[in-house]
Amino acid sequence: MKPILPLFIFIDACGWEIIKDDPFCKNVAPNRRRLDSVFGYSSACVPSILSGRWPEEHRNWSYFVYDPKHSPFRWLKPLQWLPKAITSRRIFRRWLSKFVKAGMKFRGYFDLYNIPFRYISLFDFTEKKSPLRPHGMNRGANIFDVLEAQGITYHVSNPARSETENYDALLEDVKTARVDFAFVYWPDLDGLLHHEGNQSPEIAPKLRGYEERIRWVMDVAQEHYEDVRLYVFSDHGMANCDTQLDLKGRIDQLPLRMGKDYAVVYDSTMARFWFFNSHARQLVAEVLREIPEGFIVPDAELDRLHCLFPDRYFGETIFLVREGVLIVPSHMGERPIRAMHGYHPGEKQSHAALLTNQAEIPEDLTAIPHIYRLMVRDALLAKERNVTPAAPEVFAESRIPSVREPARAFSARLTVQTIEREIL
Ligand SMILES: [Zn+2]
Repeated sequence: MKPILPLFIFIDACGWEIIKDDPFCKNVAPNRRRLDSVFGYSSACVPSILSGRWPEEHRNWSYFVYDPKHSPFRWLKPLQWLPKAITSRRIFRRWLSKFVKAGMKFRGYFDLYNIPFRYISLFDFTEKKSPLRPHGMNRGANIFDVLEAQGITYHVSNPARSETENYDALLEDVKTARVDFAFVYWPDLDGLLHHEGNQSPEIAPKLRGYEERIRWVMDVAQEHYEDVRLYVFSDHGMANCDTQLDLKGRIDQLPLRMGKDYAVVYDSTMARFWFFNSHARQLVAEVLREIPEGFIVPDAELDRLHCLFPDRYFGETIFLVREGVLIVPSHMGERPIRAMHGYHPGEKQSHAALLTNQAEIPEDLTAIPHIYRLMVRDALLAKERNVTPAAPEVFAESRIPSVREPARAFSARLTVQTIEREIL
């Protein structure tokens, strides 16, 4: 038996409102807390959880940015001459995205979504590395850098595999007790909620399925570890989209040219603009101010949300719609989707959740980047406790101190801050 296994299970979009009135995991992880999310999509939330930093610090925020000099997509421009009936089809986009991802050696999640090929050479993609791997952040360290630097053996899900395949791999690593830390990522609930909405009768059975898996892995883990420290958590919730906003239609009516006067990325809940003259800036701002479904996020608010980038890398003007509004068509999709996230973190459905079998959740753990602190704390604890003591007779005979001893003493002194200092 090993003393400790920290088991972190990340269920995408399993928001507070989804589980608040559901007995989800109450018997295995009865201690629950609502957490604030991070402004942005999973492209912002996941790196924030993995690094303990906010977007303004790690610079993993929105996927596409205006950056023609560094655009790796110039070679896709001729595809603009193909009929839209082909190029706007999801199946075509998905196939092409896989091809581009392999060709460009992008390591993270990649999707061309619905970015028009006519303008694709204006944009760069910001998640070229995978935040689920060491050295995967745009800036700074993540939990996997800490684990590697500390020599802690860990399990992590492979996003290229299915939930079931990843689950089997987890069971294998737990059964053999070869890991001292596990990070599990399950994305399927997010997809279900996007398509079916947050009131779908399919949600409860999905939660029961997750519960069963968690209970089983806990049973298996408790046969091999004395203390399994379980944390089940999410990055955001999901809001039903009952209002559609054709923002692109309004901006296209202006006497301005995309790529010459301004550039824009239409995400599904926000539009991010870059301007090349003051006339364009003024005309676009006038239109945006008249749209009741959304608002221009003031700099002071972006600052408060830790998403203010002084170099305006992710856009000069950020227009955000209110919860329940969907920008359609957008560069994320040509057609509407039932539910979405990526609204203001203060909106009801934005909140994330943390569920644990630990009696105490630190009081200052209020937002999803704080989960990182728990991961570092428990990983170090496992490292310290799971060390096999050297056999006493060998120790006595050789009079040579165990090689593990200095490491144990060292790790006991380590705090999150010292680790960060070492790695950064
Ligand atoms: Zn999603």
